[in-house]
Amino acid sequence: MPRTALATSFPGSVSYENFLVRVERVAMPLGFDRERAFAAVSLCRDEMTEPLLEAIARRWDRPFNLGGLGAVPALGRTGWRAALSHVPEHDGRGRLIVFGFPHLGIAPDGSLGQTVRRHQRMATPTCGAMVALLDSLRNGYDPLPAGLNDLEADRLRRVIEEQVEDLPDDLVALTKLAVRAVDDEIWAELDALRAHEDMDLSVFTGVQVHLPDDVDHIWPWASSYCGADAVRRPLEI
Ligand SMILES: [Zn+2]
Repeated sequence: MPRTALATSFPGSVSYENFLVRVERVAMPLGFDRERAFAAVSLCRDEMTEPLLEAIARRWDRPFNLGGLGAVPALGRTGWRAALSHVPEHDGRGRLIVFGFPHLGIAPDGSLGQTVRRHQRMATPTCGAMVALLDSLRNGYDPLPAGLNDLEADRLRRVIEEQVEDLPDDLVALTKLAVRAVDDEIWAELDALRAHEDMDLSVFTGVQVHLPDDVDHIWPWASSYCGADAVRRPLEI
């Protein structure tokens, strides 16, 4: 049943290892190999996202962590500047490969946005931040006590709201808007910092889907490359 839910809601999904093989196939000829490229990764804080992080680290060495709740880059201008300053140089240019993946779990009964975690009996929301956003759209917010904040959740909502006039009352649709927003956020910051002047850039985004007793899958969203001419070109993976 989870596989049916995956095929229905995220058609074209592939295992994350398969996805990374495809990325490597298009990125390597452009010079994004382990030796020359530096990876930066925007994943949600949920521990369930980590197998993907580890797989990226195996292929591209230790990545810079960009992500906050919902996989929206949370590091701000200072963090982006730090990430860009770590990119190694070969033949006068750097190569930065960026990944961004909001995520969603599928429970054993096929229900979307739920995961039964290790040593727990009841399913809990995955992604918790996306489910909380959906809940707040339906039921409103609880005000926070003075002095506390919910900055990453607020930002997640704001960047998704920038994508559409009216937010959908549906977790899958909301998650697909989130991956659009993550892709836009990554490119907006790279463009604003004129990163292409010093380095070649490639950005790969999608939705990471957790299946029970199975490997995570990726629903690919966007793959693109930008070189010194500042023109962003789609990559076919
Ligand atoms: Zn999450």
